Amino acid sequence: MKNNNNATCSDKTEWGKDVFDLLSWFKLDKTKNAKVLVVGAGALGNEVLKNLGLFGVGHIIIVDFDQIEYSNLTRSILFRPEDADKGYYKAEVAAKRLKEVNPTIEVQAICGDLSSGVGLGVYRRVDVVVGCLDSVWARILLNRQCFRMNKIFIDGGIGDLEGYATGYQLDVDCYECHLSEKEKMAAKTSKMSCSGVATINEKHGRLATTPVSASIIAAVQAQEAMKIIHKEELEAGKFTSIIGKIFKYNGAFFNSAFYNDASEYYDDCIFHEEWKDIVEIPYLSANTTVKDTLQILKSVLEVESVTIKLINDKFVDFLTSRNENKKFEVMMPVSKIRDHIESDEELEDLAWREGWIYQNEISEIDENFPYQDLSLHQIGIPYFDIIKVTHDKGISYIELNADKELYKTILNL
Ligand SMILES: [Zn+2]
Repeated sequence: MKNNNNATCSDKTEWGKDVFDLLSWFKLDKTKNAKVLVVGAGALGNEVLKNLGLFGVGHIIIVDFDQIEYSNLTRSILFRPEDADKGYYKAEVAAKRLKEVNPTIEVQAICGDLSSGVGLGVYRRVDVVVGCLDSVWARILLNRQCFRMNKIFIDGGIGDLEGYATGYQLDVDCYECHLSEKEKMAAKTSKMSCSGVATINEKHGRLATTPVSASIIAAVQAQEAMKIIHKEELEAGKFTSIIGKIFKYNGAFFNSAFYNDASEYYDDCIFHEEWKDIVEIPYLSANTTVKDTLQILKSVLEVESVTIKLINDKFVDFLTSRNENKKFEVMMPVSKIRDHIESDEELEDLAWREGWIYQNEISEIDENFPYQDLSLHQIGIPYFDIIKVTHDKGISYIELNADKELYKTILNL
């Protein structure tokens, strides 16, 4: 077979050359330098990653807290049966296989959840965020995080033979503004506790999805991510983006699809906040103790006292059963309580018997916090996060800049 292409497989710098750069809009450099955060490595995530990898997007971070199960294999091109046998983490396997598909790109896995696994310092440095999620609560959280760092969130969802893709951006379209109060409350109680009550996971039924709807929707998401990466071409009118619009696909009837305006953006939504004037403290890490952090913050900000606000998660020191009046020390973020209860036979029994267990939540960390020797990470703050701090002069946003070491290569730091 004649090979017209001068590039070889070992010529790592040439991915996409003489192929994609024949496209009128495609810029090899932009794609190679692009940084994309993909949240969720399930059916949609696998397909989005595959497409971004094939395009040669140079820096991809994959977030997922889950392990691979056999049921995932039906819709996940990057997973193999032996991964399920061994219960490997989705993010890690996806990262490894994507590197096999395209060895010229950098891929990094974060095996953690959105609230305590991914710091805002990561969001701050990516070009676009692609959400491949299956819960309303996770989308709410991702929407808030993206707004804080003023990043575009390309969302997708699938169910049975249908699906949608859309894009949210500060001042244009907000995921949370689309939801009714009832939907928000239902999302919150299904994922997290409210008002100090730990409930047990009802293993709520997930929608069955197909590899076909995942391919179609994820393809649209990847294409939209490519448009955001090609910002100048987008602004020059070479294409339009899906931000504030929705693409809906219906595979059951006529393979129909429609594309509409879909923006909802209300001024009274308190989550339209952008965190600006971020202070980077090079010697502050999520491994720093609360005590040292408070000292450092007071000295850097030149204030008398500071309070760290736990934004996405709260800290729980103990659980109390209702009737038997038992107390259990837990010392972990709220987001980990459910898994903890489910992994502890006595607690799980008690939770079922009593219906609920009280959890003592702490959301403001200052000098009165009783566990000053815990690290920020132990109380639920992710590495390379940006924390919100209040003090007598106002509010500051502080980046745990020492943690940038963890993302040095992937984020070109
Ligand atoms: Zn909103």
